[in-house]
Amino acid sequence: MGLTDIQSRIETAATAAGRKPEDVTLIAVSKVQPPERVAAVLEAGQRVFGENRVQEAAGRWPDFQARFSGIKLHLIGPLQTNKARQAVEMFDVIHTLDRPKLAETLARLADERGSCPDLFVQINTGAEAQKAGVLPEDADGFIAQVRALGLPLVGVMCIPPVEDAPSLHFALLAKIAARNGLTGLSMGMSADFESAIAFGATHVRVGSAIFGERAYD
Ligand SMILES: *Cc1c(COP(=O)(O)O)cnc(C)c1O
Repeated sequence: MGLTDIQSRIETAATAAGRKPEDVTLIAVSKVQPPERVAAVLEAGQRVFGENRVQEAAGRWPDFQARFSGIKLHLIGPLQTNKARQAVEMFDVIHTLDRPKLAETLARLADERGSCPDLFVQINTGAEAQKAGVLPEDADGFIAQVRALGLPLVGVMCIPPVEDAPSLHFALLAKIAARNGLTGLSMGMSADFESAIAFGATHVRVGSAIFGERAYD
């Protein structure tokens, strides 16, 4: 299994960057992976997982949570406003806050429930038309809006364009976080998490390198 290999690569990358390995959280991205692979990674001790669909996560995580304690679930895919309630009930962290309407809905739910998952604002660092996230030039304004609503904002997240050098996007995301006083940096996937760690990633989202290739996506 790829888990121990990824853990040791994270350690090496963090140490090389003069950082502490424990300051980098590995999110094992289990979306569309067969349950037996997910169970094997749980057996190996991993407790932090990422899913990109609320519905899919709701279908299988209650079972795992009954069998394993201490599981933390991170939502890393787009969140529709009408799924927000289900998302805040199930997830510990949401990485994809990207618009005022969703922020307002989350604030209302937080009021009602007295709690809210930790939040990352997704930044569309490549300004790609098909990708979610706020544009870099709108980031500061949106972050201020989220804070004014009293939401527990911890950082920013990006998914670099496939055709670009990811380091440019990691550097940009780190700059946006720093100038807004945010410490959380959700960046880096199977192909580039070591580079992301060099640029300060606090949360790397690694799927296929741990679980193997996804059958579909
Ligand atoms: C699927 C996914 C990942 C993991 O991708 P891998 O290349 O399999 O590591 C990370 N982040 C997001 C937002 C994803 O949707």
